[in-house]
Amino acid sequence: MNRFSALGLIFLISSLFGCTQAAQDVHETRFLLGTLVEFTIHTKDEKTALKAISKAAQVMQQVEDTFTTYGDVDNTVKQFNQADVAQAVRLAPEVDKLLLQSISVHQQSHAAFDPTLGVLNKLWGFSGEHLSKKPPTGAQIQQALAQSGVQNIQKTEQGWVKKVQGLALDFGAIAKGYAIDQGIQVFKQYGFTQAIINAGGDMRILGQHGDKPWRIAIRHPRQSQALGWVQVEHDTSIVTSGDYERFYIYQGQRYHHILNPDTGKPAKRSQSVTVIAPTATLADAWSTALFVLGSEQGLKVLKKQKGLSVLWVNADASLSQTHDFQMRDLAHKTE
Ligand code: ADP
Ligand code: MG
Repeated sequence: MNRFSALGLIFLISSLFGCTQAAQDVHETRFLLGTLVEFTIHTKDEKTALKAISKAAQVMQQVEDTFTTYGDVDNTVKQFNQADVAQAVRLAPEVDKLLLQSISVHQQSHAAFDPTLGVLNKLWGFSGEHLSKKPPTGAQIQQALAQSGVQNIQKTEQGWVKKVQGLALDFGAIAKGYAIDQGIQVFKQYGFTQAIINAGGDMRILGQHGDKPWRIAIRHPRQSQALGWVQVEHDTSIVTSGDYERFYIYQGQRYHHILNPDTGKPAKRSQSVTVIAPTATLADAWSTALFVLGSEQGLKVLKKQKGLSVLWVNADASLSQTHDFQMRDLAHKTE
């Protein structure tokens, strides 16, 4: 074989294996889980990537339908919420699993995370279509607190039962993370190894972005400019809970959607909390729990909690973090 035909053969082989075509970002955005969800797969195979994104979006919509307490769709969470005291309700297997995981975070977070705040959340009215503009009264808050509490639900052989009338489950602080995990699972099943799902700032990433780690900006809770950014790679999640997502100002005071189960009022110790964890489910639940706890208590709780890297913007705008949280400032662009 002469030199030219050898070169031709190499060219042919590399074309057959698709090596000449560079990998690119295949990108789609959908409205899901009450937010814009961005799907990105870094690949040479655009056609399969688009299929995987459609499937992931479908799976995430199913998660939303399974957990939502809003809209017309029927699900076992609503059935439980409408049930009477002592009436057993069989929750869908996914709901059962996430409730047990929520109870575990509840226990580990000294009750800062609470999946039974359905009545209180609706009373504050941050999640419905119309945002409230005025806080509820102390008496209304006490009544809603009496209809909550993990000690007031129980798993029996016939299903889950509530011990107080009206108690309602709410997975608002964990279901979005779970949905992201399910979407990433679909990407893995399709064989993709470089991808990201970003649901309104809550995300899970796979692999790297080309040959570099993914770079994720962290939102500043009070300014439009980012607070900084982090590098993440392999299979990791990064989720932020903030008091700027859904809030109103009443008589000069900020009221927002992350509630302290102790007081029944918006949690006051943090402006935002960012958690890096192996799954988006864990990162989502813990970002809410650690927001409520604040950095002082939160750092104590984290001594027993492995695998979470955390950054707080405290109520006074100072920063606290676990030692392994490596935030880079905006000027620090290359690495
Ligand atoms: P976001 O939905 O903005 O990502 P979070 O993940 O922190 O923010 O979830 C906030 C939602 O979780 C609230 O809208 C409410 O439904 C619910 N929630 C509020 N406070 C708590 C709490 N202490 N524990 C568990 N769920 C909570
Ligand atoms: Mg959360």
